[in-house]
Amino acid sequence: MATNCTHDCSTCASNCGSREKTSLIKAPHSGSSIKRVIAVASGKGGVGKSLVTSLLAVRAQKMGYRTAILDADITGPSSMKAFGVKEHAMGSEDGILPIRTAEGIKMISMNALLDREDDPVIWRGSLIAGAALQFWTDVIWGDVDIMFIDMPPGTGDVPLSVFQSIPLSGAVIVSTPQDLVEMIVKKAVNMAEMMKVPLLGIVENMSYFICPGCGSTFEIFGPSKAEELKETFGAAACARIPVDPDLTRLVNEGRIGEADTGCLAAVFRAVETSRPINS
Ligand code: ADP
Repeated sequence: MATNCTHDCSTCASNCGSREKTSLIKAPHSGSSIKRVIAVASGKGGVGKSLVTSLLAVRAQKMGYRTAILDADITGPSSMKAFGVKEHAMGSEDGILPIRTAEGIKMISMNALLDREDDPVIWRGSLIAGAALQFWTDVIWGDVDIMFIDMPPGTGDVPLSVFQSIPLSGAVIVSTPQDLVEMIVKKAVNMAEMMKVPLLGIVENMSYFICPGCGSTFEIFGPSKAEELKETFGAAACARIPVDPDLTRLVNEGRIGEADTGCLAAVFRAVETSRPINS
């Protein structure tokens, strides 16, 4: 691979071994310089993928990394709401400018382009995938140390085309305990594996509940499988997030920037030491 590889084979004469595999990879906007790109994916919707994306981004920004969220969940965008951002993205002939959260996280989401946040996006899969990719190719991201992509849920053609087209440092897979025993998680892990994307973390969301009255811990959806799955799938790290009414409240009030992100420390270490996309 060329030392200055941009993963855009259409602009490169070198006939290296990765040409075939990376031929679908698209280059970001010329005004973007992005070091690491992390896909946050799940086998199905509603398991907390957006929450985990937000928490990882909050942790990164607090640690001094220039952080961005690309909300590729086109039909169910929730990043802006979690951060309480209502701005519209501005554009020029050159491209689209990302909006910023109060913490300084750069962000683009379908809601930043719609007239009203409750307008539905009624598009076919190819258009949805196209919009997610345009967030990569047409947004002028500037300098970013770590970008988190809130992936479209599931393992269908839309997430697949994002996995194939954006160079990734690694993937974090989110699930809940009852899913973890199902094939759904394995499908998401397999998708990352097929794309040769390193598996940085398995996050078991809604893993337990701490009773505010007595302080006891309840594994309401069954015993944790996080550690076992980390070993089985060879993930670099795993994490458990409790069912926490405070998290729900912070998301609903647009104040996720205030959340405690300590439970994601091990997964975040894998994120910050993942391979840069141009290596
Ligand atoms: P996904 O992106 O997988 O569709 P979300 O992150 O949007 O899922 O989560 C779905 C809903 O569940 C949101 O309202 C979110 O705030 C809530 N939620 C997710 N995880 C937790 C948790 N651990 N504790 C409390 N509420 C949660």
